[in-house]
Amino acid sequence: MYIYRPDDVILGMPRADLRVLPYPAIVVARDLTPVDTASVDRRNVLAFVTEQGSTTNHTAILAQTLGIPAVVGLGTALASIDEQTCLGIDGAAGSVVLDPTPEERAVLEEHARALAVEQEHLSQYKDREAVLGNGKRIEVSANIGGPGDVATALQFGANGVGLYRTEFLFLDRDSPPSEEEQVEAYRSVLTAFGSKPVIIRTLDIGGDKRIPYLHLPPETNPYLGVRATRLGLRRPTLFKTQLRAILRASTAGTARIMYPMIAIAEEIEQANLLLQSVRDELDAEGAAYDHDLQVGIMIEIPSAALDAERLADRVDFFSIGTNDLTQYTFAADRTNRDLNYLYQPLHPAVLSLIHMAIEAAHTHGKWVGVCGELAGDPRAIPVLIDMGIDELSMSSAKIPRAKQIILSL
Ligand code: PEP
Ligand code: MG
Repeated sequence: MYIYRPDDVILGMPRADLRVLPYPAIVVARDLTPVDTASVDRRNVLAFVTEQGSTTNHTAILAQTLGIPAVVGLGTALASIDEQTCLGIDGAAGSVVLDPTPEERAVLEEHARALAVEQEHLSQYKDREAVLGNGKRIEVSANIGGPGDVATALQFGANGVGLYRTEFLFLDRDSPPSEEEQVEAYRSVLTAFGSKPVIIRTLDIGGDKRIPYLHLPPETNPYLGVRATRLGLRRPTLFKTQLRAILRASTAGTARIMYPMIAIAEEIEQANLLLQSVRDELDAEGAAYDHDLQVGIMIEIPSAALDAERLADRVDFFSIGTNDLTQYTFAADRTNRDLNYLYQPLHPAVLSLIHMAIEAAHTHGKWVGVCGELAGDPRAIPVLIDMGIDELSMSSAKIPRAKQIILSL
C-alpha cells in the first residue's frame, strides 16, 4: 500500500498536486480543502485519511459523493505513519489500523466482503419507487457536485438531483466560469435527468470554500460572514451570470433554482429581483427558458426555520440543510473535530427547527425536503418521514438503503 502525503510540513516538500497521482495511493494529510478533494485523481485514489476535519466538512461529504473511503479527524495519531506503514482502512467504521496483523487483516477483509454482500442485497431497491405504507411517495434524490457525478446518481436510482453544489465549477481556477461554460455544465446535468427535477443551488462560497480570484477581504469568522447568497447579493454580476446560465439551460430538462444560506425574507426578495431582471433580459433577447421553473431556498440558519411562515410565502419549496443548521444551532464549527460532541443533528433542538420548517411549508402548500447529511442517515429517515418530509436528497450510494427503509414504513 502506498501513501501519498500532500503535506509540506512533514516531508518538507512543495505542496503536492492531487490531480495526478502517480500510482494507486492513499492520501494522508493534515487536512484537505474542498478543492483538493474535488479535483483528486479518481483513477488512482484509494482512500483519504486526515488528521483534521469532521464527518460533515466538505472533504468528507465529497469523498462520499465520489465513493472514496475516507476517515477524517484522526488527530495526531497520523504523525507515526510513514511511507512504509501499511494502512488498513474501514471507511464505514471510521477506523484506520496501522500495520495490521494477519488477524486484523482478516477482520477487515471480512468487513469488506460483508459490505459488498449488503450492497448487492440493497441494489434490488435502487429502481423501486419509495412509497410509504399510506401511499405517499417520497422523492429520493442525489446530491451532486457536477456533471461527473451524474452517472453514479442515475446508477443508484436517484429520482432527481436534490442538491447540485455548483460552487465546484468556480473553485480551483483563476477566474469565474463564463456564462457559456456554466450553461454547458447545467445543461449536461439537466439533459441526463430529463423529466426528473434537478435543483441547482446558486453559489455557496465562503466558510471552508474560498475563491482567491474574488479577492474577498479576510474575515474573522468566515462561517458567519459574507457567504453564499449574501455574497451573490453583493456581487450581482457574478450572481446574475449564474442565474442567466441556469435559466438558459432550463430548456434541457426540469431545472429548479435554490438560494443557499437565507437568513431573512428580504434576502429572498432581493435575489428574486435579480432573477426577475435576468428574466426580463432574456425576454428582451427572445431567449427560451422554462417560465414555470420553481424557486426555493435552503433552510440552514435557525432564523429561517423560526420565521419559516413568512419565508414559505415567497418560495416554491424549502430544502433543509441539516449540516449548517446543526452547526448554527449549537454555534459549533462543523469542521472542528474538538466540537464533534456538539454535532448532533438528531438533537431535539435541531428537530424542533426542522419540524417548524416542515409545518410552515405545508401550511402554505409548499413541499419540503432535506439535503443535509441527515437525509441519508438510516436512524433519521423514519423521524423525518414522521414529521412529513416530502423529499430526501443524499450521497448517491445511500439511495438504495433509504428506499428500503421508506418502503418498510
Ligand atoms: C447543509 O448545510 O446541510 C448543506 C446541504 O449544504 P452544504 O453541506 O453544502 O453546506
Ligand atoms: Mg450548507
